[in-house]
Amino acid sequence: MNSYMKMTALYAPTLKEDPAEAELTSHRLLLRAGMIRKTAAGLYSYLPLAWRSIRKIEQIIREEMDAIGAQEMLVPMIVPGEIWQETGRWDVYGPELLRLKDRHGRDFVVGPTHEETFTDLIKNELRSYKQLPVTLYQIQDKFRDEIRPRFGLMRGREFIMKDGYSFDRDVEGMQKSYDDEKAAYARVCERVGLRALPVVADSGQIGGDTSVEFMGLAEAGEASLVWCDCGYAADDEAATVGIAWEEGPGTSCERIETPCEGSIDSLAQLLGISPMACRKSFAIIAEDGSPVLCLLPGDHELNEVKAEHAFGHYDAMDEEQMATYGLVKGFMGPIGCDPRVRIVADVSLKDSTSWLVGANEAGYHIQGACPGRDFEVAEWLDLATAIAGDACPRCGKPLHAARGIEVSQVFQLGTKYSEAMGATFADEDGVERPFQMGCYGIGVSRMLQAVVEQKNDEHGIIWPVAIAPYEVEVVPLDVADDLVWPLAQRVADELTAAGVEVLVDDRKERPGVKFNDADLMGFPYQVVVGKRGAKSGMVELKDRATGEREDVPVDEVATSLAERVRAQRS
Ligand code: ATP
Ligand code: MG
Repeated sequence: MNSYMKMTALYAPTLKEDPAEAELTSHRLLLRAGMIRKTAAGLYSYLPLAWRSIRKIEQIIREEMDAIGAQEMLVPMIVPGEIWQETGRWDVYGPELLRLKDRHGRDFVVGPTHEETFTDLIKNELRSYKQLPVTLYQIQDKFRDEIRPRFGLMRGREFIMKDGYSFDRDVEGMQKSYDDEKAAYARVCERVGLRALPVVADSGQIGGDTSVEFMGLAEAGEASLVWCDCGYAADDEAATVGIAWEEGPGTSCERIETPCEGSIDSLAQLLGISPMACRKSFAIIAEDGSPVLCLLPGDHELNEVKAEHAFGHYDAMDEEQMATYGLVKGFMGPIGCDPRVRIVADVSLKDSTSWLVGANEAGYHIQGACPGRDFEVAEWLDLATAIAGDACPRCGKPLHAARGIEVSQVFQLGTKYSEAMGATFADEDGVERPFQMGCYGIGVSRMLQAVVEQKNDEHGIIWPVAIAPYEVEVVPLDVADDLVWPLAQRVADELTAAGVEVLVDDRKERPGVKFNDADLMGFPYQVVVGKRGAKSGMVELKDRATGEREDVPVDEVATSLAERVRAQRS
């Protein structure tokens, strides 16, 4: 029979002080609650409490994968270098790839992901279209030698990933496997208690998505997103949205005095207009060495990813280069600069006819400038980072902005790996065709911390029942008392018998210490057994999430609480 866990036996060394190494709330709480420990930069040990939660997340993933017919297996973490050379990733994957040599001098990598391994595995054994589709997955440690491992489990070097790979006969099949995984990933987020948005990372040519990232919403997230009430969401870097702008003042091209420090905000304030009625100029040197001036609505920034796309590896112009090309810092614009400067503008501005731009003279701007009439725009490009208030590309409503933690990603690979590795099957007509593949990853350890990042308060973690290390903590206020201790044991026994996972704080500590630790560790329910209640047959039930307390008769507590817990297990 199952029995409950006692705090005196549990390996969960809590910390009284905030650890200096932790910047993020979730990282701090996992350390303080005795759930994880750092072994070295980016290398963490999962202590018993965190490990219980990890196993629950894995179990939820397994159930959702089973439900769509994916099969769990395991491949070696170490991958022969040859197959990475075959796909060319040996050369393009940078220093994040940990390479090793064995005693015979053969090359290996510690798998950061396993497309090669799985493709190599199936390539000589999945031979016929009749055997397809197949989706295989594993849950395994990955290693990426991240340049800046940080935030605990969020960006580790060794971390736990569920990675899956689908093999289909044709594009329609791949689309279905991908859609199934995407739906399963949404259910995984929901079941572990994570508020997440599916964010389009890559749009396909026919409008559908070919890659989606699930982003746990959190201020501390590294990704900035835009989203809409209609369900659209995108990484601000991938988003092609309706960038919002306003016309500037005046309609005829006119030089005006603007005694301000040269920032868009100071200019807008001086003229009493909105920053989006101004045009911001970014001067860069493109990869081919040519000078380019990028014009955007004043409240928007040049997006690095989009700019790289357009100009290759570019650099911002330094002051010397600006001087060479007749551009004046703080007062830059498309008029009056060196004719070698190529003028490009964000495509959203194509219909705008009254531009407020710098005059390339300190203290002066030009208002009412009109492209085509007063200066030439060589190219209209998607350049701006989307922000709140821009228009949703699906429904046109204003977008909201948020920050997110990427917890998982689904990806249509097509034949990229199967072609590179010669992985083909015989189709119905006897022709050998490369597999249409998809790959799907969940950062299991990152997901655990993302939940904690969303669910906490000033006292500690607030575990959702579905992934709580224990579901109920029984807190006897005085273990030496001959009424209290037997009653606490009885409640713990009854809850355990009803299938609930129970931890009993059997330490000889003051009530205050126990309450603090209970809140810090954050199990969903606390049953407090005190002397007064014990006499009258009552215990106190505290809901960690709401903070609500109620007195419950001892005879009823196990049955009613077990029911509540079961209902929330998901
Ligand atoms: P990131 O952009 O955060 O570096 P990624 O897009 O490179 O992640 P994927 O290759 O999509 O990561 O890997 C699948 C999942 O593995 C990610 O969605 C993320 O949850 C997790 N993951 C990736 N890198 C790390 C890491 N260094 N530490 C913890 N989890 C990670
Ligand atoms: Mg990713």
